Amino acid sequence: MMNPKSSLSVLVLDDDLFILKTTHHALTQLGFNNIITAHSVHFALEQLGHFESIDIILMDLNMPETDGIEFFRTLEIHNFLGGIILISGEDEQTLALAKDLAKARKLNIIGTIAKPLNNRILQTLLSQWAQSRTPVKEIVRRPTIVSQADLQSAIDAGELEPWFQPMIQLQTGEVTGVEMLARWPKIDGYIYPDEFIPLAEASGLINPLTFLLIKKASYWLGHWKKHGLHLRLAINISMNSLHDLDFPDQFIKTISDAGVDPNDIPLTIEVTESSLAEDLSTPLDNLLRLRMKKIGLSIDDFGTGWSNLTQLQGLPFTELKLDLSFVQGAATNSRTRTILESTVKMAKHMGMTTVAEGIETKEELEYIKGLGCDLAQGYFMARPMPGGDILNWTKNWKKPE
Ligand code: C2E
Ligand code: CA
Ligand code: CA
Repeated sequence: MMNPKSSLSVLVLDDDLFILKTTHHALTQLGFNNIITAHSVHFALEQLGHFESIDIILMDLNMPETDGIEFFRTLEIHNFLGGIILISGEDEQTLALAKDLAKARKLNIIGTIAKPLNNRILQTLLSQWAQSRTPVKEIVRRPTIVSQADLQSAIDAGELEPWFQPMIQLQTGEVTGVEMLARWPKIDGYIYPDEFIPLAEASGLINPLTFLLIKKASYWLGHWKKHGLHLRLAINISMNSLHDLDFPDQFIKTISDAGVDPNDIPLTIEVTESSLAEDLSTPLDNLLRLRMKKIGLSIDDFGTGWSNLTQLQGLPFTELKLDLSFVQGAATNSRTRTILESTVKMAKHMGMTTVAEGIETKEELEYIKGLGCDLAQGYFMARPMPGGDILNWTKNWKKPE
């Protein structure tokens, strides 16, 4: 009988080179001969491009660059169908928690091993897996919609487009700004950001994507200004970018090369609330540096995460964007209404601008206006549109009475 192990490929991921070496040795002893070692997620991705050919990943949870939890997200995006063994110096509780997190991402955890690596446990786990599983290459894969290579060439070729959704000042009804939203034009329609932003984040393409869109948006900002329309621009920024210490400089350089002066055209960066639960030391440095360059900072999707306003007090945010589920839930749920009302009050008290997003009806618009929200955005006013449609839309925009 063929040794089932010999046909399986194993990726070992650990920033500790000694562990990489000993694990490689242990695996060879166990009869595996298709072993890839990587000291970082980045390196693994660079070497492999994807994880399609990998059957088993043995991984350290705690790595300096991309930690294990973040890596789960990458694996989910890459549709990883193989098995995962967690090796970690963390305590059992952390390992168990990580296991739950991986399960939530529909990843297949074979087991966990505490450091130092115990070869016998490793052998048991691997043998069970090897005997019970068909190699990944033989499983029919779910279709992936976009590949990293496609996205890379679309960015290189400048194919991605910024679309814009107007924001109105509630008290005056005036259009005062737009949020930039990424679109990927294809012959038969558009690909929406939910289908490529996570991939861009996982594959290191998010900064080139953001900068491409900013460059294109700056053309429109100038064009609108020439026609007497002075709009502020809100830009979605991924938390991945904010973990990169070079990001503020690159961002400032991109806007200044594009001729956008934040003192003239107010810019706001939107960061989702859920991403603020992570380790914030680097992002906070970056946010502060951007704030010092007069960039507004907005917490996006507020109400979907766990933070409360007191926790946010130490952070340099200037704006709170109330999530659409929050705004839309207010009509039917009195508890949501209470939270919403007190959130707007507290945000005001803290000197933050409040934006309500996802306004789809006149009733919702009136309700949030009554709450004292500053700005509103939603299908009721306008859907996102190409830059070329903004002037015309604004001309026809009738302020609500
Ligand atoms: P977001 O930042 O919360 O943007 C608002 C999303 O809600 C947009 O979806 C918008 O089209 C949609 N929306 C606006 N008004 C309404 C409404 O009244 N009702 C409903 N149901 N939806 C409304 P979109 O354009 O598909 O973008 C999805 C998400 O993708 C964005 O959510 C944002 O997190 C992300 N995204 C978009 N562009 C970029 C980008 O350039 N960079 C990054 N990092 N993320 C982006
Ligand atoms: Ca946003
Ligand atoms: Ca949002």
